[in-house]
Amino acid sequence: METSTQSNLETIPKLSHGDGDHERFAHYVKKDKILTSALSGDPVTALCGKVWIPNRDPNKFPVCPECKAIFDGLKK
Ligand SMILES: [Zn+2]
Repeated sequence: METSTQSNLETIPKLSHGDGDHERFAHYVKKDKILTSALSGDPVTALCGKVWIPNRDPNKFPVCPECKAIFDGLKK
């Protein structure tokens, strides 16, 4: 029985709302939360604790270092 922790996570970009360049990261968010958000319009919570309403954006963002550290911790 394998854990599906990794496949349940997806990176989605956090778009800056003018509060700094460090906001321009792609954060890891659980897929079910993304789906729920898409239906309800509610904000999502990333692994690092960042909360925002995701927007669809084709641009590539660097992965949030905090999310990556947590994600790497989950893999072991
Ligand atoms: Zn993050």
